[in-house]
Amino acid sequence: MQLPAEGKGSLAIVGIVPGSPDQMTARALKVIAGAEIVIGNDTYLDQLKEFLTGKTIVRSSMGKEVERAKTAIKMAQRRRVAIISGGDAGVYGMAGIVLEVLEHENDAMPVEIVPGVTAANAAASRIGSPLSGDFAVISLSDLLTPLDVIEKRLDAVFSAGIPVVLYNPRSRGRPHNFLAAMTIARKYLDEKTPIGIVKNAFREGEKITITTLGEIEQWSDGVDMHTTVIIGGLESRIWRRGKDVKGIITPRGYHRKCLY
Ligand code: SAH
Repeated sequence: MQLPAEGKGSLAIVGIVPGSPDQMTARALKVIAGAEIVIGNDTYLDQLKEFLTGKTIVRSSMGKEVERAKTAIKMAQRRRVAIISGGDAGVYGMAGIVLEVLEHENDAMPVEIVPGVTAANAAASRIGSPLSGDFAVISLSDLLTPLDVIEKRLDAVFSAGIPVVLYNPRSRGRPHNFLAAMTIARKYLDEKTPIGIVKNAFREGEKITITTLGEIEQWSDGVDMHTTVIIGGLESRIWRRGKDVKGIITPRGYHRKCLY
């Protein structure tokens, strides 16, 4: 897709990865380079500082996503606007709400969604290969989804025995959701099930912990909103190099077919 000509408005919703700009796609960098206006919250704008010289910056804050979407759409009538979203814009990000507002306003402006590395992939890459086959993603935030619905979903995905990735795992406002989720996991999984706790993946302050379901209580204080938690499935195991614990492997099944 070509970038639109000068003076013609367009809107791009750009996933800018969860951590350092090193992980951004070539397309995301190109679209941001071509934008006249970049809209996002402080954390993400600061992350991108080096790419924003000479552009109009519109700062928005957490919880103001609907207003941000409306502002972006308004500005994109005449200007090239990039609205940035952490990780992938389509995974608990800005893409959905922007498309809903566009639909509601019956606006046919050109819109491009630029995919990015989501926290699940970023976190997984720091601890080996825990998500080699089927896996599920659940957010523990009950701001937009009722808690009883989240619990039903947790029960369903843990009962499937596949690895489960938890986003928004523990905030100050709802510190108990995380251990409540672990109690649901215990209905179906062994205490030895490996768990990876990845805080600030690819960012300053990155911290990685590999533990087990049996020992998760002692690590739960360190789980926060900058953390992604990966709970292994029935086939997941600890990944070692020599004696060192490096992470988690979930075999995809090659061992059942091939010798290696
Ligand atoms: N759109 C984003 C997710 C937004 S929800 C994406 O695709 O990644 C916010 C949650 O993502 C956080 O609470 C945390 O669970 C996870 N997350 C985002 N960045 C992260 C990082 N650098 N390290 C670990 N987890 C991260």
